[in-house]
Amino acid sequence: MEPAELTSDVDVLVVGAGVTGIYQLYRVRGAGFSVTLLEAGDGVGGTWYWNRYPGARFDSESYTYAYLFSRELFDEWVWREHFAEQPETERYLNHVVDRFALRDHMRFGARVTQAVYDEASGSWIVDASDGTRHRARFLIAATGVLSVLYFPDVPGREDFQGVSHHTGRWPSTPVDFVGKRVAVIGTGSSGVQVVPAIAADVESLTVYQRTANWCTPLNNAPITPDEQARLRADFDAIRATLDASPSGFLHVPHDRATFEDSEEERRAFYEKMWSSPGFAKLISHYTDLLVDPAANAQWCEFLVDKIRTIVKDPATAERLIPKGHRFGEHRPPFVTGYYEVFNRPNVSLVDLKQTPIVRVTSTGIETADGVEEVDIIVWATGFDFGTGALARMGIRGRDGVALEEHWADGPRTFLGIQTTRFPNFFFPGGPHAAAGNNPRYNGDQADFITETLTHVRESGFDTIEVGAAAEEKWTSMVDRGAMSPGSFGESSYYFGTNIPGKPRKYLLNSAGRPRLFKEIARVVETDYAAFRLSRAPERQDGRTPPE
Ligand SMILES: Cc1cc2nc3c(=O)[nH]c(=O)nc-3n(C[C@H](O)[C@H](O)[C@H](O)COP(=O)(O)OP(=O)(O)OC[C@H]3O[C@@H](n4cnc5c(N)ncnc54)[C@H](O)[C@@H]3O)c2cc1C
Repeated sequence: MEPAELTSDVDVLVVGAGVTGIYQLYRVRGAGFSVTLLEAGDGVGGTWYWNRYPGARFDSESYTYAYLFSRELFDEWVWREHFAEQPETERYLNHVVDRFALRDHMRFGARVTQAVYDEASGSWIVDASDGTRHRARFLIAATGVLSVLYFPDVPGREDFQGVSHHTGRWPSTPVDFVGKRVAVIGTGSSGVQVVPAIAADVESLTVYQRTANWCTPLNNAPITPDEQARLRADFDAIRATLDASPSGFLHVPHDRATFEDSEEERRAFYEKMWSSPGFAKLISHYTDLLVDPAANAQWCEFLVDKIRTIVKDPATAERLIPKGHRFGEHRPPFVTGYYEVFNRPNVSLVDLKQTPIVRVTSTGIETADGVEEVDIIVWATGFDFGTGALARMGIRGRDGVALEEHWADGPRTFLGIQTTRFPNFFFPGGPHAAAGNNPRYNGDQADFITETLTHVRESGFDTIEVGAAAEEKWTSMVDRGAMSPGSFGESSYYFGTNIPGKPRKYLLNSAGRPRLFKEIARVVETDYAAFRLSRAPERQDGRTPPE
């Protein structure tokens, strides 16, 4: 295939200007490859560009989410809070792009609509929504696991005449909530952030809850000057701890199991956990929290007491108590003043399991209980997790095979970076990566991809494709991990079960970074035996690749 007119003809095409794509661009450029990046949005940031709803912020500590490849960068950026709000993160990512002169490589408003592998030349021909066409030897899709919106299939959504936004596509001009009647649909990680952020401004707020989640306090705070100084002084130690952490956090694992402590000690420990920051409540908890249902139930009982103590109306408190799933089975949301909001006279809770939405009307939301007239609807209804973006990019590999068909029964990958039949195609930060603090393990993948491309170049080859055996082994490992009690459980979006018709497959990798590191080391030791390296037919110019 010879493309008519190419806007760019490069070694590497990166798709997505989120935290993963920015780093991938930085790394491959540093390794001497020519590179273009295409981004559907009009700016840098990915998640932190699109999710600008009130209350959007980290659950990872800001300085553990930040890049660690440059000490100067770490030193010069002053995070204001332990868990930064969206505008701060968007500013940070823009700062990184400008500081390392990456913007000239980026093209915004360019959604990839088709990417076709040309076997003769061993390269990818990529079309974007801005009418441009690009050719690249290597295609790297850093398109995110939470970048494709999900709306539940309720009739009439388009009929609503008021203001309506999904949290994952929030407009850049502020939405005026003051004195408005507002509905928030969904109480996952985004819904529980937006609810307390707007409750004081609105005339009325109706929260539509399908599934109650085990919410615990984020315990955010400003970073004091002393802490700031300590963070800088501890840069090397922080980096070493994060590099060694399976989930990429600083939180230290606990060394005791639930029933090793007396009831009194347990109560004190639970209070300590309740007051601990963010994901400490998973990582620094009793060692058996996720593996022993009886241990998990003890902690849940403590949380039930908390909900009943905070929420004054007993009926509302009961509806806010999760039923039928353990703590940690779903992605645990971390909150600031969420349960307290339900004590406000202008806030009410609708349990959609009891009174489902019948339809959206032009002026409000109709449930079995009647119509609630509203001015604004906030859809906090989540994403097509894991494979959503990759399945919508028109990716066609060897013999024209479509990625979405290749993965019709769920993704099959090696290291969460490559799949068979799609040579020279990589997807860091996609399905089967680890689980935890995203930039840490997505960064591991971006590092390895860069080393792999360099290896291909230095070996005199130009095409690399993972072998079926390696893919099978990795995919089985991921699937087996999903069966273990330590995983996030059956019903969470980690299995894609929030999307009707999506095959139920585990989309993360519960073996975490240690397994990723181990397998990467094996790849290097065995001189890339897991992959098939070759020379594209058109490139066979007489040079013999080394054995
Ligand atoms: C509200 C919210 C809070 C979060 N908080 C945390 C947190 O505290 N800690 C944490 O570790 N993770 C968090 N996450 C997960 C978050 O998605 C990741 O941390 C991180 O942003 C992933 O970066 P990424 O670059 O891989 O993907 P993204 O940030 O999603 O970027 C992908 C980019 O690819 C672009 N793209 C997709 N398809 C195409 C296409 N076909 N053509 C062109 N461009 C395309 C998208 O527009 C997007 O800009 C949060 C997610 C959300 C939604």
